[in-house]
Amino acid sequence: MTIYNFSAGPAVLPKPVLEIAQSEMLDYKGSGMSVMELSHRSSLFEAIIQDAESLLRELMAIPDNYKVLFLQGGASLQFSMVPLNLAQGKKALYVNTGSWSKKAISAAKALENIEVEVIASSEEQNFTSIPELPETVDQKAAYVHITTNNTIEGTAYAKIPSYGDVPVVADMSSNILANDYKVEDFGVIYAGAQKNIGPAGLTVAIVREDLLNQEAVFAPMLDYALQAKNNSLYNTPPTYAIYIAKLVFEWVKEQGGVAGITAKDREKAQLLYDAIEKSNLFKSPVEKASRSLTNIPFVTGDEALDKAFNQAALVEGFENLTGHRSVGGMRASLYNAFPLEGVEALIAFMEKFEQENGGN
Ligand SMILES: *Cc1c(COP(=O)(O)O)cnc(C)c1O
Repeated sequence: MTIYNFSAGPAVLPKPVLEIAQSEMLDYKGSGMSVMELSHRSSLFEAIIQDAESLLRELMAIPDNYKVLFLQGGASLQFSMVPLNLAQGKKALYVNTGSWSKKAISAAKALENIEVEVIASSEEQNFTSIPELPETVDQKAAYVHITTNNTIEGTAYAKIPSYGDVPVVADMSSNILANDYKVEDFGVIYAGAQKNIGPAGLTVAIVREDLLNQEAVFAPMLDYALQAKNNSLYNTPPTYAIYIAKLVFEWVKEQGGVAGITAKDREKAQLLYDAIEKSNLFKSPVEKASRSLTNIPFVTGDEALDKAFNQAALVEGFENLTGHRSVGGMRASLYNAFPLEGVEALIAFMEKFEQENGGN
């Protein structure tokens, strides 16, 4: 049976990437060692991390005045690192668009000398849309933080706001390499790798140089400037995760780069949204203009029926379709590596389920 993995993260990886990793597992480039066994100071690993960085720069067209950092601690540690590095003694502005935004906000609020203000929120609408944003913000603020794609709620920013000298900082964990945003519209971008980049354990941060902290952050590992100065090799980085990320970047390049893969993402998402639209049983809880291309929640409106659908789906090899525990229903995460055939198979299954369960 073919297994289609709709997991929101850690998520499906491109099969060719796993095959290369498999073929190189016991002997990386004639070294007689696996990548996991290489010193992070070896020339073989240095080539891996340098290739990973230059491929990501090429794919995202990252300008030279941005540093690319390979870190640990997940996107969740960035919730603290961003304010620690950028907002000491200042005010930080946040847009609240869902569970991950809320965690970012509470991490910033936990810091002593940082003032946190929420400038827009869709919480009253149950996060079913991206809220309307203010035209202007306090120009003394350190940054405006947004979550470009809300993995749990299934919303995304179609357009990135611009606030003059106040940089936009983005948690791009679930739609990095799957959008048409421009890096220069952001001061900082960060992403946990386990959605669209590679295995868990690696976090990518892209930081505009003028935003690097001038004063040391109390803990060296949390200090962007120090990490940048050491080319992400201040301590042992997650070497194997960086190697897989490099292979994924090569694969994305082969798919026509970010533009090529995003076109495929649009096709996959459109197919599923059209099927939901056509259905008399399933509906999308998300407002049309705010819909995500990567995480697509849908519900029947009847919890028992949702449960029956999820159970029947599992039997057919559709893994991890259950919606997040905070939202319920179903959620299909269609990351870059998720195949079009999987979307087609899901739609056929949804139609069959609808016929058998009173859709008319
Ligand atoms: C998954 C996710 C996170 C959490 O990432 P970790 O690497 O587990 O800390 C944060 N933000 C968004 C948008 C996510 O999708």
